[in-house]
Amino acid sequence: HRMRRLEGAVRSGDPMKIKAEAQDTVTLLTEFLAARGARHQEQIAAMAARLASLRDELDNVRAQASIDALTQLYNRAAFDEQIEREVDLATLFGKRGCLIMLDIDHFKWVNATHGHPCGDQVLRETAETLTRCFKRKDDFVARYGGEEFAVVLRELAIQTARTVAARGMGAIRILELHREGLPEPLRITVSMGIARLRPGETAASWIERADRALYQAKNGGRDRIEVDPIDLEER
Ligand code: GH3
Ligand code: MG
Ligand code: MG
Repeated sequence: HRMRRLEGAVRSGDPMKIKAEAQDTVTLLTEFLAARGARHQEQIAAMAARLASLRDELDNVRAQASIDALTQLYNRAAFDEQIEREVDLATLFGKRGCLIMLDIDHFKWVNATHGHPCGDQVLRETAETLTRCFKRKDDFVARYGGEEFAVVLRELAIQTARTVAARGMGAIRILELHREGLPEPLRITVSMGIARLRPGETAASWIERADRALYQAKNGGRDRIEVDPIDLEER
């Protein structure tokens, strides 16, 4: 309608009329474009908000996917990734860390005697204690499986690893687990196996050596730390 009016004015040849019609047309177009711009702006803002909330959700899911629900420690999948990163660090920069494999002693007895919920509490409190004891920025504490935990200590000599492991072991030993109905607090011990990544070694071999040391600690009577003999030679 507006264009037809403008055309009419042009055909009439009256400059005043043309000017008036042209001005009206420009005003109308400006208003129309401004309204459309505002609408688009709103749509873009809504879309950005939706994207941001989706991204938060994704971050959440991603974070949850690497966390063990019972203990809030890193889970096995996160550990598997971390251990590969440690091997890469060693390859690239020669930074060799230590791995502690840790297993609660006689845990089946805890479950059988005091019930599964009590066992769960033991797992949670053990996890808390480990987090407290291994708190360097790069320390990585994970629940490896059932009542087995793994701690990766970045770029550390075996003797130092043994010292901090002993501290963790001591902290667990003095843990007092209070449960309703128990006449006295429950105490637990753990066994640990430690191995230091060797130059050129694979993650699988590193884990196997720490596991073997843990097995030695169990065989030796539990409540103790064993270091893989290969790493002791390094000294
Ligand atoms: P050892 O001193 O040789 O390690 O003996 P153990 O009894 O601790 O060892 P074993 O590996 O035979 O027992 C582990 C038990 O841990 C078996 C399983 O029922 C229990 N378990 C695994 N996951 C959980 C869990 O999430 N909660 C509870 N309460 N128990 C669990
Ligand atoms: Mg076990
Ligand atoms: Mg056990």
